Amino acid sequence: MTDPSVNLPAAILDSLLLDTSPYLSCDECFDQLDIYVERLRQDPTYRDVSMQVHLSACAACAEEAEALMDLLSGRAG
Ligand SMILES: [Zn+2]
Repeated sequence: MTDPSVNLPAAILDSLLLDTSPYLSCDECFDQLDIYVERLRQDPTYRDVSMQVHLSACAACAEEAEALMDLLSGRAG
């Protein structure tokens, strides 16, 4: 008589907190990266949690974001 879905939410929540992938895939991150960086430049208080979570967990995208930021600020290297 036990409905397994009743006991799952806590476990699902834990896995969501541990695993950043439910937020964005690298493809989705890349799609939004230029917009995110542009917004961040215009408004330093701009926050996009899903992007931040992905960038903090994904070195490849974080590097890309930094490169984009440099590009937009007109700095070479
Ligand atoms: Zn990524």
